[in-house]
Amino acid sequence: MSTDPTTTIGIGIGIVGLGKIARDEHIPAIAGEAAFQLRALASRSTTLPDVECYETLEAMLAEAADVDAVALCTPPQVRYALAARALTAGKHVLLEKPPGMTLSEVVDLRDMAAGSGCSLFATWHSRFAAGVEPARQWLAERRVRTVRILWKEDVRVWHPGQEWIWEPGGLGVFDPGINALSILTRIMPHAVFLTEAELEVPENRQAPIAANLAFTDRRGADIRAEFDWRQEGPQLWTITVETEEGTLELAEGGSRLAIDGEAVPLSAAGEYPGIYRRFADLVRSGTSDVDVSPQRHVADAFMMGRRIAVAPFTE
Ligand code: NAP
Repeated sequence: MSTDPTTTIGIGIGIVGLGKIARDEHIPAIAGEAAFQLRALASRSTTLPDVECYETLEAMLAEAADVDAVALCTPPQVRYALAARALTAGKHVLLEKPPGMTLSEVVDLRDMAAGSGCSLFATWHSRFAAGVEPARQWLAERRVRTVRILWKEDVRVWHPGQEWIWEPGGLGVFDPGINALSILTRIMPHAVFLTEAELEVPENRQAPIAANLAFTDRRGADIRAEFDWRQEGPQLWTITVETEEGTLELAEGGSRLAIDGEAVPLSAAGEYPGIYRRFADLVRSGTSDVDVSPQRHVADAFMMGRRIAVAPFTE
C-alpha cells in the first residue's frame, strides 16, 4: 500500500464497474472529496477520459500506478471475488450495497481485512441521508411503539434493463428495500428481528417484486414494512416511528425529517460525499466498517418468508 495514513490527500482510487451508481454518485463524490484522486477504472464495456482504463480488476491491480483503494460498483453477485483479489493485493476496499451475495462471504471479507492493514467499508448509502443521524439521536431515549415503512417505487423507472437484479443474489425489491432496513437498523434503540414475511415473486422471475414484513424488538415494538416495485405515480420512501413521546417521520429516503409534523432543518450534504469522507477516515485510521445487519434481515426474509406467485414481469 502506498497510502500514507498521516496525510489528508492522495488516496489513489480505482472504480470497478461503470454503471448507473458509479456514474451518478461515485465519480462526482470522489471529485468533491480532497482525500481521493480517481486514478483508474476497470470496466468490461467502456472507458473514461483522464484515468487509466482496464478491462478487468486483475489488469488494474497489475498495472495501475498509485491505486491505494478500489470502489466496487458492480452487482453483488460478483463482488466477493473482486474484493478478495483487491484485499490480497493490499488495497483498501469500498463495497456498494448490498456488500455481497451472501452473509458468509461478507464475513469472510471482514476477516480477511482484519489485521491486514487494509480498510474494508461496507457502505449503506441511505445511512448518510441527512435526517438519519438526527432521527437516531431523537429515538435513542424514547420508547418506540410502532414503525411503518413504505418503500414503493417503479422498477421500470429506477432499474431499466438491469437483469441481474431479478437473478438469484440480485434481491429483487430488497435491492431498494435494504436501504430502508439500513436506516431502520441504524435508528432503532434496540435490535429488531423479523416475525413474518410475505414475498410476491413474479412467475417468470427469481426475485420478489414486493414484500410485506413484520418485525419486533425486545420491548415488543410493532414494526411493519411494505416494499413494492409496482408503484406508479408518487414514489414513496418513508419511515414513520410512533413513540410514547411523539412521532417522527423520515421521508424521501431519509433526506427529510419531521417530528410531530414539524420539519427539522437539515444539512444539504449528499449521501455519497458522506460515504467518501467516512472511507477516508477509515483508511487514515487503519480500521474497517462492516455491518451486515441490513443484509441479515433480507436473508431472514428469504429464509422464513411465505412465497406468493404473482403475474409475470416484463420490462
Ligand atoms: P448497473 O447500472 O447495472 O451497473 C453495474 C455495472 O457493474 C455494469 O454497468 C458493469 O459495468 C459492471 N458489471 C460487472 N460485472 C457485471 C455483471 N456480471 N452483470 C452486470 N454488470 C456487471 O447497476 P447499478 O445500479 O450501478 O448498481 C450497482 C450496485 O450499486 C448494486 O449493488 C446496487 O444495489 C448499488 N446501488 C445502486 C443504486 C442505483 O440507484 N442504481 C443506488 C445505490 C446503490 P462495466 O460494463 O463498466 O464493467
